[in-house]
Formats: sequence, C-alpha cells, structure tokens
Amino acid sequence: MASSMAFADCSTSAPTRTFLFSRLRPCRGLPSIPPHLLRGLPVAGFRLPSLRITNSPSSFPKAAISTEASAMVIDGKSIAKEIRHEITTEISRMKDEIGVIPGLAVILVGDRKDSTTYVRNKKKACESVGIKSYEVCLPEDSTEEEVLKFISGFNDDPEVHGILVQLPLPSHMNEQNILNAVSIEKDVDGFHPLNIGRLAMRGREPLFVPCTPKGCIELLHRCNIDIKGKQAVVIGRSNIVGMPAALLLLREDATVSIVHSRTKNPEEITSQADIIIAAVGQPNMVRGSWIKPGAVIIDVGINPVEDATSPRGYRLVGDVCYEEACKIASAVTPVPGGVGPMTIAMLLSNTLSSAKRMHNFQ
Ligand code: NAP
Repeated sequence: MASSMAFADCSTSAPTRTFLFSRLRPCRGLPSIPPHLLRGLPVAGFRLPSLRITNSPSSFPKAAISTEASAMVIDGKSIAKEIRHEITTEISRMKDEIGVIPGLAVILVGDRKDSTTYVRNKKKACESVGIKSYEVCLPEDSTEEEVLKFISGFNDDPEVHGILVQLPLPSHMNEQNILNAVSIEKDVDGFHPLNIGRLAMRGREPLFVPCTPKGCIELLHRCNIDIKGKQAVVIGRSNIVGMPAALLLLREDATVSIVHSRTKNPEEITSQADIIIAAVGQPNMVRGSWIKPGAVIIDVGINPVEDATSPRGYRLVGDVCYEEACKIASAVTPVPGGVGPMTIAMLLSNTLSSAKRMHNFQ
C-alpha cells in the first residue's frame, strides 16, 4: 500500500478562494437532516449570510475563511446501520411468509489483499442481515472459461438471487465478457450493460443500480436533501461510480456536469454546484475554494495517505479536503464513515430486491 500512497495534507496550502463570514446561521427552507443521522455538529439546515467578496488577482473572488467547522456531518455509518436493520426485518418477514432466504454468490479470482478484505466484509454483512452467501475463490491463473462456468452455475441456481464478480479481475481476463455473462436478473452490482443502458434511458427501469452511486443518492434522500432542479457536479466518470452517479442525479432532475481528467476548469465548474459527488481517487483534490457556500458534498474517494502518527503508518482520506469543506459546505460525508458503509448496505438491498422480484414477494 505504501508505494501507491500519497502525501497529501490539505491543511498546508492556502485555498485560492476564501469567504468572509463569521458563523453559519440556521435557516428555514434548507434541508433539515434527521438528528440521528448527523454527527457532532449542528442539526438544523444552515444557510450562509451574504458574502463579502474582496477583489482578487485570480479569477476567483477572495475573502477570509471562517476558522469554525459548521457543516453538518452526514453519518453514513448510522444511515447504513438503519438500512441494514430494515433489510434484516424484511428478510425475516420473507422467510416467515414464503420460506425464501435471499442468496448472494461472490466470485473472487486471485489473492489481492484489498479484494480479499472486501469479499470477507461482504460475507460478514450478508450473515448479519440473514442473506445466505456463496463464495468461490479461484487462483490468479484460472482461465476465463472457469470463471464463466461458475457464473453459469449461479445463473441457474434458484437459491442464488445475486451474483457479484469481485473486480479487478486478473489482467489476462476479459472483464467485459465476464460481467456480460452474469444474468441481468442477478446483476446486483448493476454493471451489466443492459442495466446501465436502462439507467441512461428515459422511461426505462434498470433491474439494479450500481451500489456506490445508489448509496450516494440514498444518503441525499435520507437526509432530506432536495436534488430536483439543483446544480450537481460529479467529479470522475468511471463506469462503477462517476458515470452512474451522474445518470442517477439526472433521473432525479438535477442539472448535471461531469468533471474528469481532461476538464479544463474543474474548480470553476465545481464551485457552481449545489451538490458535489467526488469520485476521483485523488486525496484532498477538492479544496475549500472549489466549494460553493452551502453546497452538499458526498465524498466517495478512499485514499491512503502517509501518517506517521497512525499505528498503521497511514490513514484514509477522501477526494475532498474535509477540514476546508466543513467550513463552507452545509453538509458533508466523512471518510471513512460516509459513503463506504452505504456501498455494502446497497448490495444487501439489491440482493433482497432481487429475491423479492424473483418470488413476486411484496
Ligand atoms: P477510477 O476508475 O480511477 O476513476 C477516476 C475518475 O476520476 C476518472 O473518471 C478520471 O478521469 C477522474 N480523474 C482522475 N484524476 C482526475 C483529476 N485530476 N481531475 C479530474 N478528474 C480526474 O476510480 P473509481 O473506481 O471511480 O473510484 C474513485 C474513488 O472512489 C477512489 O478513491 C476509490 O477508492 C473510491 N471508491 C469508493 C467506494 C466506496 O464504497 N466508498 C467505491 C468505489 C470507489 P478520466 O475518466 O478522464 O480518466
């Protein structure tokens, strides 16, 4: 991990745009987030008092930044726990009423440490809500045909309602062939082109939506944050996070911009956003100066950065400079403890939905 670790500390360099305000004050009409879903900070919605912008040589206005953290912290861990509780209740009802237990099959190829940990966590999460998990661990040098054979077996197995192939696959395998082989009815990761295609089309419904972006939207919903008509910026356009997140925001009637590695003016575009979803994989890339006062920030990034004070020698940070965001945004997800726990909760939710759909259980 150390070799790919970044040195990134957003407290060290000055933001290019700062704002003059002393305190955020509560306000009606802005989202009020249920208190139990927030951590440590004020509970009601907040709006900034009007800003005094001073002249600046840069294209961005300059002013003095508040030193106090005022954003509400969106507690993804608590929200995910609440969702898992709901799922547990539903699974037990389903078992009692029709005798069906949802099943999730996970296929892992190779022994990457991070993938092994993810798979172990998914298995534990399944057990905790009552989903039966099936696991296949294949050696790194397995053939594509071997993987396809297991997928085909799970496609035909009526006790399996969801199939997940842990990515990344070894480089000798064709990811597209393998993901396409998963039955669209069991594609709980939502990566099948038919599911993504339906997500992109008006009037079509995907059977499953990819878990991480679905978790981002669920956080906004559960925190009563309006999406309709808002300016949203998604930073990153990967197939698994950025692109589906943008499609989901569009379905929610946001006006969506996507920032990627070739975007010329990412800071300027991002600073227009009422809602930012950052999924870049660059530690602390989004600085305070990129954030419109009062914006809501969902930080998907999980980046290890060196930290000599941590027993592990590193700590995890997001794509957004959290300390600066807390002073400018109205709500922000922490890393860890924001989007991460939601991803697994959404996988469990997709597996339950799949079992319900297959057995026509309402
Ligand atoms: P990815 O496949 O590497 O995609 C990164 C995206 O960011 C690409 O679209 C890339 O643009 C864009 N990008 C890279 N550098 C940029 C820059 N300097 N300015 C603007 N855009 C830039 O990553 P991913 O799989 O989407 O994951 C993104 C982050 O989310 C990672 O930190 C990952 O660990 C984390 N993640 C978290 C969860 C969770 O459950 N919380 C789940 C999945 C991923 P191009 O397309 O132009 O290359």
